[in-house]
Amino acid sequence: MNKVALITGATRGIGKEIALTLAKEGYHIAFNYRKENEELEQVKKEIEENQAKYLSVKADVSDFSECEEFVKQTIDQFGKIDVLVNNAGITKDSLLIRMKEEDFKEVINVNLVGTFNMTKNVIGYMLKARTGRIINISSVVGISGNAGQTNYSASKAGILGFTKSLAKEVASRNILVNAIAPGLIETSMTEVLKEEVKEEIEKTIPLKRIGTPKDVANVVKFLAGDESSYITGQVLHVDGGMLM
Ligand code: NAP
Repeated sequence: MNKVALITGATRGIGKEIALTLAKEGYHIAFNYRKENEELEQVKKEIEENQAKYLSVKADVSDFSECEEFVKQTIDQFGKIDVLVNNAGITKDSLLIRMKEEDFKEVINVNLVGTFNMTKNVIGYMLKARTGRIINISSVVGISGNAGQTNYSASKAGILGFTKSLAKEVASRNILVNAIAPGLIETSMTEVLKEEVKEEIEKTIPLKRIGTPKDVANVVKFLAGDESSYITGQVLHVDGGMLM
């Protein structure tokens, strides 16, 4: 029987690559979108090309009831959720002195509260099934901090505390909860950075290259699969050695 993975923020970037990687592994994929557009159609097409079944549901992760509906529809369609990947995330960067209250709250609401909203709605099904994997996408800046990202790094540090606490709560039911802390990854989130800035960052990375969505998706595949069955409450850095 095919495993079922629910992935947030899979319309592009890292989330899309996670969806395609797990589809190739034989998972059925449930993912959310916020707008119907060409990007969404492209993801659906590429999942189908991998012979996987998918469900796409309009849902904003910062809205609890939309997450509840997304999870319900996934259960109705596939009957179970084996893997939850909390990947959806945004940035609203500025120095704290100039940061608007709404920009702080929006980033926390999408990145951290969104992770709670999805996990809270999924966990009951996993507890009942006595199995499950939850993989939360954090960031190196949740560990190191970064000037201009008090909101984002607070949300990503919060995800790490959430991950470890939940891992302790649900380990006895064979539910494994881990986080991934990517470094700089080439996606639309980072394409706003100037080339010079990227080159400067690249010089500080021991592996001397910016990461790709596939670098992250491969680690999600590992954490979702049988080979990682003795790993929980951990933070895997996927950053080319940026942070040691
Ligand atoms: P991205 O290309 O900007 O994609 C973000 C995805 O999240 C999109 O599918 C977006 O959907 C979705 N999303 C945003 N807000 C949402 C909301 N309120 N509800 C539901 N979905 C929402 O970003 P990415 O670089 O792939 O990042 C993916 C994750 O990795 C994020 O959590 C990010 O913080 C983390 N990360 C990225 C990097 C990096 O260097 N790129 C580094 C460390 C960590 P829409 O199309 O509807 O906007």
